Amino acid sequence: MERIVDQIASCTECEECMESCPTYQITGEKLFSPMHRLQTVQTVLEGGTVSEQMVESLYNCPKCMACETVCPVEIKISQIVDAGRRMLVQKGLGPLERGKRIIEGILKKGNAVNGDPAKRLDWLPEARPHQESETLLFLGCLPSYLVKDAASDSYLALKRLGIDYMILEDEGCCGTYIYEAGDIDLAREYFQRNVDRFTSLGIKNLIVPCNGCLKCFKYFYPEVLGEFPFQVSHVVKVIYDAVKKDPSLLDKMERSLVYHDACRLARGEGITEEPRELLSWCGAEVKDTELNREQAPCCGSGGGIRSLYRDLSTEMASRLLKMAPGDTMVSACPFCTFQLRATAQGKEINKDVVYFSTIVLDSLQN
Ligand code: SF4
Ligand code: SF4
Repeated sequence: MERIVDQIASCTECEECMESCPTYQITGEKLFSPMHRLQTVQTVLEGGTVSEQMVESLYNCPKCMACETVCPVEIKISQIVDAGRRMLVQKGLGPLERGKRIIEGILKKGNAVNGDPAKRLDWLPEARPHQESETLLFLGCLPSYLVKDAASDSYLALKRLGIDYMILEDEGCCGTYIYEAGDIDLAREYFQRNVDRFTSLGIKNLIVPCNGCLKCFKYFYPEVLGEFPFQVSHVVKVIYDAVKKDPSLLDKMERSLVYHDACRLARGEGITEEPRELLSWCGAEVKDTELNREQAPCCGSGGGIRSLYRDLSTEMASRLLKMAPGDTMVSACPFCTFQLRATAQGKEINKDVVYFSTIVLDSLQN
């Protein structure tokens, strides 16, 4: 908490962050800007009056971290938003009703997307292998239920590359949504159950195709539990490392596409060149949106805002789709893939959105 107070106090109100913020750009509402979100957290912290719009400002931030790339005093605004949500929960002002329903779904069905647990492995392209391994391919809710090609094509690409891993029938959820909603006591309990389960299975490494799972396991678990005794890697990095030794494993298939940098991979992990290299080894001509890598626009699905503030979130996706040249976009994030696909369909924008493993698998199978 001391660190949060210091960080808020270090804001010089220079306003450098304002124009980088998609929620401020779209709404023109000052409360929905980075600088004002800091001030809102300060008010919550001091026990001041918190309006409904102030609560909204902390829950409608997709935590895209665009503001953090421009802030001259390097304030971790997205982490302060997290702290603010936590305080709202302590004061009985959060989670929001819709958020509570998603959390109930996680506790009841083991996933955040209201999927039928009996159908979780519908994406699996073969009978479930029962092999044991120290490495768990943890697919995540989005790939398991809504972006099944991300699950099946990551599974097959890893298999073709000879990477040893196991999967779980009743995988459950990483619990990121519980953390994002600010319910840390419940998140702690939920996280601990996953850790105990992985430990009892002898797991040492996790491979995840989902950036939400990556961030949750890599940062939220150690923050909440004090440690996370497993190595966690994004599937793009695992595939890249495997292919790098011999890019000729990938057949070159001519195509032109735009690579979209997901916030959590590009700004969060600095993973920008590996997916581009992989795609070019597959024979693709890789193009960029005007703003790319660290400056890439957010698709509007992070931080739980797609479920809570659909219109704002869709507007962000729509702007991004219109900014991208060509008719095919590739993402290494199932959240972006789902959000951009749904928006392209809903807004009748002619754009194909592909999860990156599909391109790799095509080139491995050719
Ligand atoms: S994380 Fe993104 S949406 Fe949230 S305040 Fe920063 S720039 Fe705005
Ligand atoms: S850029 Fe940083 S210091 Fe400047 S107003 Fe924004 S948060 Fe404050």
